[in-house]
Amino acid sequence: MVQTQVLIVGAGPVGLTLALDLGRRGVRCTLIERSKTAIQLPKMERCNARTMEIYRRLGIAEQVRDAGLPRNAPMDVFLALSMASPPLVHLPCPSVAEATAEIAAHNDGGLLEPYQLISQYTLEPLLRSIVEKLPNVTVRFGCELISFKQDTDFVTAVVQPNDAAEETIRASYLVGCDGGSSTVRKQLGIPLQGEGNIRKLRQALFRCDDLYERIPMGKGRHYHIAEGPLFPFIILQDSTRHWTLHAAASSDAEMAEIFKKSLAMPIEFEMLSVNEWTQHLLCAERYGDGRVFVAGDAAHLVIPTGGLGMNTGVGDAVDLSWKLAATLAGWGGPQLLASYEAERRPIGLRNVRASRAAMTGRLGWRAAYRPNIRDNTPEGRATRAEMAALFDIQQRKVTEISGIEAGYRYVDSPIVCREPGDGPDPDNPFYIPTTWPGARLPHVWLNDDAALHDHLGPGYTLLRLGGTRANTSSLERSFREIHAPLDVLEVAGDRPREIYQFDVLLVRPDLHLVWRGNELPQDAAKIAMVATGRPPSRL
Ligand SMILES: Cc1cc2nc3c(=O)[nH]c(=O)nc-3n(C[C@H](O)[C@H](O)[C@H](O)COP(=O)(O)OP(=O)(O)OC[C@H]3O[C@@H](n4cnc5c(N)ncnc54)[C@H](O)[C@@H]3O)c2cc1C
Repeated sequence: MVQTQVLIVGAGPVGLTLALDLGRRGVRCTLIERSKTAIQLPKMERCNARTMEIYRRLGIAEQVRDAGLPRNAPMDVFLALSMASPPLVHLPCPSVAEATAEIAAHNDGGLLEPYQLISQYTLEPLLRSIVEKLPNVTVRFGCELISFKQDTDFVTAVVQPNDAAEETIRASYLVGCDGGSSTVRKQLGIPLQGEGNIRKLRQALFRCDDLYERIPMGKGRHYHIAEGPLFPFIILQDSTRHWTLHAAASSDAEMAEIFKKSLAMPIEFEMLSVNEWTQHLLCAERYGDGRVFVAGDAAHLVIPTGGLGMNTGVGDAVDLSWKLAATLAGWGGPQLLASYEAERRPIGLRNVRASRAAMTGRLGWRAAYRPNIRDNTPEGRATRAEMAALFDIQQRKVTEISGIEAGYRYVDSPIVCREPGDGPDPDNPFYIPTTWPGARLPHVWLNDDAALHDHLGPGYTLLRLGGTRANTSSLERSFREIHAPLDVLEVAGDRPREIYQFDVLLVRPDLHLVWRGNELPQDAAKIAMVATGRPPSRL
């Protein structure tokens, strides 16, 4: 029987990210994937800014950027009658290089990394190659989870390698990162709640070498074609030679016709693949049971409008990872793993709502379509103007949602110290820096131009700001008694103190805040107990 600490089922982006973080934290894990090879279909193409911050913390952001769309490529979004027409709407979005320069020029508590366009079929093999180098992670492609059972100490899983007999793997914990049709979720009997099977679409992948250089309206990443009822949507992939087309076509062959018509210029192309996919807005009723958890698409399914699928799953992975590592190391308290569901399920539900809002907006501008849209008549011009005006408003719900991407806060978490009042709106689409407990620590530049985030180690960090004289020794002692890793960092300079607004902050291993204040309370030990998932009466 194979023994491991954590068995991860599914080597999609979420399972791979979880394996990477667990592996770096010294946890022995086995990652099994039923496919023999990595994903061939395009699926996602945009890591959002928060995912890129997470990848920076995992030490791979530059590798992801090197493999993705070149840094200078514009990320603009267009609405047009065809790829050869002038745009009806042009929404400029900064290239990675421009956004990086913008971030470097400001010290206002914003985001540390910009987004990155990288096709899922590029990202997954890259993550896999990185994970396979970790000595304590075993990666097995062509190995399917068949069933599992758990008792108080272990999970025992039956797996089926492609070319061999069934095997048993015994693990302390099992995480189902096995996608929308999750075997793990189904075996736990966890239902999905929300709207399933909303509509079916086809996605086709094209190779079209010349298109990128020849689009008269300019280079960008998203091209919406204002042609009802199918509304072709053309997305640039990371090579700049590959494109996907989304449309509600009735056959695979029709996808090539739609692409040709949407190009409206003589350009050679090859259709490489077509697949059908179904839109859902669903969230699991629970995120696990006992020693078994679900993460990523196994736990929530959104419409990709807004790019909240994989990106939400990466957030799940880094929330669960340090809690598993802490529990296995012995310093994680009994509430720590339970806080995974308390923290991440509300974010899953929230992102399902945000995805619904983005999709509703898209349907809103599409509803302005009239067959006269191409006519050079007052009516045709009016149709175009109405659709353009609606697009200009609604499309921003897809592209300008930094608050949804990075401003999530673990409002009802049992492992952060609550403050009186509600705090800033955690569902604001625009990111507003805050150190309210449960929020992600805002990024600040230090005096030496290094990012504070880069100074934070794998455990907890007590930030002491603005030359504070606050006595934090009792809290430090409490962490030592629990054997939980804590670094104490004096942060010089006025700007971090201005942005963070408090003298002392306690930050978790995933860079979310536990507590803030200017003086420690009398019962500072309670902060350590809450942070590490211990009911206060147990210490
Ligand atoms: C058209 C489209 C565009 C998208 N665009 C974006 C975007 O821009 N941004 C974004 O964030 N998201 C996007 N998404 C969503 C994104 O693709 C998914 O959210 C993401 O793939 C989820 O990752 P995952 O690792 O949770 O699951 P998956 O990627 O589904 O991976 C699950 C893995 O588990 C394996 N598996 C399943 N069952 C078993 C088993 N029993 N044993 C072993 N292995 C098993 C599967 O083979 C698979 O490899 C898009 C999706 C689609 C369809």
